[in-house]
Amino acid sequence: MKNSIECPNCGHKNNSIDRVCKNCHFYLREKIANIDLWTTFWKMLETPRKAFQNIFFAEKKNYVFILLFVLSFKFCFNGLVLANITKKNIFVFDEFYFNLLLSFGYFFLFIFLFSLFYKLTSKIFGIYVRYKDSYTLFTYSLWPMIFAVVILSLLQYALFGEFYFTFNPSPFIIKPFAAYVLLALEALTILFTLYLAIWGIYVQTGYKIYAFVFGVIFIVLLHLAQYLLPFAPFAINL
Ligand SMILES: [Zn+2]
Repeated sequence: MKNSIECPNCGHKNNSIDRVCKNCHFYLREKIANIDLWTTFWKMLETPRKAFQNIFFAEKKNYVFILLFVLSFKFCFNGLVLANITKKNIFVFDEFYFNLLLSFGYFFLFIFLFSLFYKLTSKIFGIYVRYKDSYTLFTYSLWPMIFAVVILSLLQYALFGEFYFTFNPSPFIIKPFAAYVLLALEALTILFTLYLAIWGIYVQTGYKIYAFVFGVIFIVLLHLAQYLLPFAPFAINL
């Protein structure tokens, strides 16, 4: 087990998240009660290892639900753009709020089911991870998407109005340069979330290749889920 820590007092192997040695009750680390939102965001840029350690050590997983709520807007917008580009189903603005609500549900379900899948897979590989650490890790690793939903979505809307969502005509025809710059920023945001997810899994498990593979699976499945979002009115394309 790579994610274990040896007690300096008795040598017993404890899980890396343990605060007190299971064998001799020696204190292995300081108590961390809460996750501080802004410090964590900043630390993820500077020292991702410390940022994720704090997340795992924290007894209370603060802000997870608020973050999921804000992130689900991006999840919805991305799904909407993807649905319209591929003409999978055409997004109707009359149903906007209903579809937004639906996206919250899909996104929450995705994060909690994926974390369960991750926990169970880790167990098969003999790696112990806690469920709440896992969904906190995946939620926090997506924080660059908050930047994307706040700044990029506003820019996209300011530049292209609803054409950014309908893709009829495509923003690449209306203002090609601006459209490509925004696309590049979107791509950078996605790469950044991948980088953070890999770091988080690595800090949690101690395995580099496992972290890389699972980080990629997480980001790919997240975007696949966005692409597959069924929006109302429910079009059946068989
Ligand atoms: Zn001990």
